[in-house]
Amino acid sequence: MKISLTTAYQSDRALEIIFSSLRWFFLILSAVVFFSQYVANPDPLRLNLFIMLVVFGCLYMGVSDYYLRKWPEGSKNYALVTKGAPFFDFLAFSALVPLTGGIESPLFPLAYLIILHVAVYWKLTGGIIAATLLTLTYTITFLMQVSDVYTFSNLITYFSQVSFLLLMGCLGGIIVSRERQSHSEKNLLEQAANRDYLTNLLNHRSFQEHLRGDLENNSAFYLALADIDNFKLVNDKYGHVTGDKVLRELGSIINSTVSVKQGKAFRYGGEEFAIIIYNKEQDEVDKLLVEIKLSVANHIFYCEGEAFSVTMSFGSCKQNGEEPDKLVEKVDKLLYEAKDRGRNRIVYSCVN
Ligand code: GH3
Ligand code: MG
Ligand code: MG
Repeated sequence: MKISLTTAYQSDRALEIIFSSLRWFFLILSAVVFFSQYVANPDPLRLNLFIMLVVFGCLYMGVSDYYLRKWPEGSKNYALVTKGAPFFDFLAFSALVPLTGGIESPLFPLAYLIILHVAVYWKLTGGIIAATLLTLTYTITFLMQVSDVYTFSNLITYFSQVSFLLLMGCLGGIIVSRERQSHSEKNLLEQAANRDYLTNLLNHRSFQEHLRGDLENNSAFYLALADIDNFKLVNDKYGHVTGDKVLRELGSIINSTVSVKQGKAFRYGGEEFAIIIYNKEQDEVDKLLVEIKLSVANHIFYCEGEAFSVTMSFGSCKQNGEEPDKLVEKVDKLLYEAKDRGRNRIVYSCVN
């Protein structure tokens, strides 16, 4: 995944990877700050605490970094790693600040980043809670470090720091929540525009856009069109609700088989699906289509206790630099040839 500030706006994983990389950066910065202070004022106890913190931090960050990239977005484990991160940040911050100068620590502004990170997941309430907890950390450090708390300048320092923290919690929380809301609304709109409501596959419009884009980029790919055999009979016999269920389940079979093999599945329309397979090798494409054909034919559907299955016919050929409409027309002809030759089969174009 290419990570940049733009991708961070569009993807939660990209944002988390940026936060996670920042943690490594701040770990190095903390070491620089700590050792520059340590040289002037050596203290073995502080050194041991700092080393323990670094070892624990490296372990946590290494493991979470690995799983952040590995676990699929939306899974429970992924949520655990991402939502757990601000807790780790808070603990690390509370230990780091006293070790690097207390209320004068150059690392103190990390508190603002933590508040923003918390607000990404827990919005305004999270922002305020994070700001309150960080205020508590600051207050404890302040009381332990400042001998004469009630002097005017110390009180001013204290109240201005606390005001910034709380303001950041409130305003940061509001701004981040507003951004998150508009981002998720935008995602919903995009989803509605590009996805098929019934099968949740990419829709016809999205297919045309992908096809045009891939042809313009001159990508190597095969196009396949797949059509359910005698689907009208399924609707007539079991009803349209069962027909819809068949479409949904077949969509999911096709999508899961294709996506692991570097392709994209679309609902072309009605009971037809389009598949773009990014592969140069005919053998690989044949294998994939045979796998889909068999998975479809072996899938058992149930309607009021009665089991039944369906088959599909396929047409497929390699793109040869033609216009999108011409390519679809060519594959459509092959699909109809598959129907004419008895259905439940794949017809390939030999002319590449
Ligand atoms: P063939 O093997 O020649 O493709 O026969 P077929 O019966 O599958 O093809 P035909 O074009 O005669 O009928 C397609 C059927 O697909 C008719 C239509 O009602 C049904 N269909 C199209 N879209 C949907 C849908 O969203 N839901 C349901 N339940 N049926 C649909
Ligand atoms: Mg059909
Ligand atoms: Mg059809």
